[in-house]
Amino acid sequence: MYDRYNRKIDYLRISVTDRCNLRCTYCMPEEGIQLLRHEDILTFDEIRDFTQIAVAHGVTKVRITGGEPLVRKEITTLIRMIADIDGIRDLSMTTNGVLLKHFAYELSTAGLHRVNISLDTIDPEKFNKITRTGNVQDVFDGIRAAKEAGLLPVKINCVIKASKDEAEAAEVTSFCKDNGLEVRYIRQMDLVKGHFSMVDGGSGGDCAMCNRLRLTASGKLKPCLFNNIEFDIREIGFENALKMAVELKPACGSKNETGSFYNIGG
Ligand code: SAM
Repeated sequence: MYDRYNRKIDYLRISVTDRCNLRCTYCMPEEGIQLLRHEDILTFDEIRDFTQIAVAHGVTKVRITGGEPLVRKEITTLIRMIADIDGIRDLSMTTNGVLLKHFAYELSTAGLHRVNISLDTIDPEKFNKITRTGNVQDVFDGIRAAKEAGLLPVKINCVIKASKDEAEAAEVTSFCKDNGLEVRYIRQMDLVKGHFSMVDGGSGGDCAMCNRLRLTASGKLKPCLFNNIEFDIREIGFENALKMAVELKPACGSKNETGSFYNIGG
């Protein structure tokens, strides 16, 4: 699929839940969020069917995200259903890693290729402060389990304020060097104010090269993270939503006043 700016659209990011087991200060309010109703959340069959159509139209790269994807019940079943679709060359997941030690092996067996794990600091106290509830040791255990399960390369997503030379990020950098992990530095963004920039070490944030579509847990297909445009796949049909999202993908991000990282997937 090519959009009107001749960008090849071959990457689908799927948020499978709006729920999360952490409350990162830059992502979610401390008291949590108004959760989606069960019936508003796409079923596994709907996610598989939509993905199948997207792949038939040229998507080769699929990422599962959230909320926290590992809190969605039976997530391994969904991974298996998606892995069974012919034509996906890269099937990955973005996770906070907290539950990964329990899932890494079965995810790998189900057909997941690799994981990105979010880690902004290796300091236990700072980690607990940023995530409001988390224990960094769980993430370390998750990283080890992912490596052992062959979910490679394991990449680390590190949110920074302004620079990768900040103390926390520098510690994450040496941790990654010591543990054979790739690291991507993501500047803290603001959807409403339209503050975003290119991801250092990754491909996000570069509008001219953007190849992505994003499906939210409630079935809204978004052609751009920094834009309010979205198409409800249940309302207008899977094929039609795909067509519209590609056709109307904006040249460049601006602002998003309707969504949040936790329901679009970052
Ligand atoms: N729960 C999973 C996780 O923690 O990786 C997946 C969802 S999370 C929303 C996806 C990514 O978005 C994480 O790497 C997170 O750090 C990032 N993120 C969330 N809010 C952000 C913000 N305001 N600016 C930049 N990145 C953000």
